Amino acid sequence: MRSILVVLALTVSAFAAKDYSGYQVLRVTPRTDEHRQWLRDMETSMADELDFWSDIKNIPGSTVDIMVPNRLRSNLLDLFNVKRMQVSTMIEDVGQLIRDQEKERIERQVYTQDLSTFDYTIYHDYDEIQQWVVDIVNEYSTIATHFELPKTSYEGRTISGIKIRGTGGDSGTRKGVYFEGGIHAREWISPATLMYITKLLLEDYMAGDATALRFFDTLDWYIVPSLNADGYTYTRTDDRLWRKTRSNNEGTGSGCMGTDPNRNWPYEWGGQGTSAYPCSILYHGSNALSESEVEAVVDFLRDKKDNGQDFLWFIDWHSYSQLVMSPWSFSAEEPDPYNIDQLQAAGEAMADGIRSYSGTEYTVGPTAKLFDPAAGLSNDWGYAPYNSEKDQGGLGAPYSYVMELRDTGTYGFLLPEDQIEDSGKETVLGVYAMGTYILDQEGL
Ligand SMILES: [Zn+2]
Repeated sequence: MRSILVVLALTVSAFAAKDYSGYQVLRVTPRTDEHRQWLRDMETSMADELDFWSDIKNIPGSTVDIMVPNRLRSNLLDLFNVKRMQVSTMIEDVGQLIRDQEKERIERQVYTQDLSTFDYTIYHDYDEIQQWVVDIVNEYSTIATHFELPKTSYEGRTISGIKIRGTGGDSGTRKGVYFEGGIHAREWISPATLMYITKLLLEDYMAGDATALRFFDTLDWYIVPSLNADGYTYTRTDDRLWRKTRSNNEGTGSGCMGTDPNRNWPYEWGGQGTSAYPCSILYHGSNALSESEVEAVVDFLRDKKDNGQDFLWFIDWHSYSQLVMSPWSFSAEEPDPYNIDQLQAAGEAMADGIRSYSGTEYTVGPTAKLFDPAAGLSNDWGYAPYNSEKDQGGLGAPYSYVMELRDTGTYGFLLPEDQIEDSGKETVLGVYAMGTYILDQEGL
């Protein structure tokens, strides 16, 4: 059964984009620990066929979103019914929703090198995002420079970023900030929001905004808007809901492509909340840093660190669920981080800032306590102490987060473009609030 399904999936994608007609996203409410465990087992045993869009949270009343193909739907509904678990339909027809959104982008002109024409309210192709990086750096050349990560993606794409260093303030070594978008391919709101924030911060700096001046004249910023270059490209051409990288898992005999890059970071790699099965969307890879894109970031930031630059602030931007997640992710039993109170307060500052725009609510807390533990995550690597062995330590940034952006489950990964602007405007207020808290704490 499994191998037939895989062959079918490969055949379909060879000729056209993957068709999700008749797929639904069901929203299930587990009531007990037994329910949660049952869902976890199902997530593992049916990794080929069910796509868990959201994590199984350890919060009473919280829901789990599961994308289900048509042919499994009635059996699953029966099972949920037997378990007396409440179920609702979050997305009636995933294929139709994708086609509706596709229609809107088909007629569009490709963005070409004129920043004044760049439309921040649509989702762009990978090449357009790379071009935008070049163009925004040219526009703000007094404070922004272009960089490339030291390794390409698996398929050989260059991964670009923006370094921002204000012209005021101290001319010596400054502490660093690292923001990264798009590590999960289908989370399109992440690169879009990160680009929007970057633009707003740069405009505010030029306009003399006191907080933007403080940010860029105190710290060195490194922003990579779209890290999973191959996966993102694949979501634009072949499979809108692809999550992982596009490495081929040669030698595993699975026939399945891709690793979950946010289970591939080298700190506490391969533990709970990951999968050793290459067809799983949580596949942790053959070893830590097996994915070129993750190793590229680690090499890039370790090189800064080796040259005397400490990092203060690390955010890996994802969607969806509206969460600010701090370390630890890999274990709920691990002693709390030494600055757990500050991590939480900075997270709440982010949530307060976001809420102040139009009331959007974010939940704040350590990943492993909000959810099940998940090992090899970016926020743990960002936080964990530096180690001279690349495959063991982290970056040592005292403020390190995974952010899950909009929404809480009307559209999930298929968030419409008309929410990009509000996502950008509310999130930048969160960034201002969190950054202000951090700089105050540090006396900077
Ligand atoms: Zn994600």
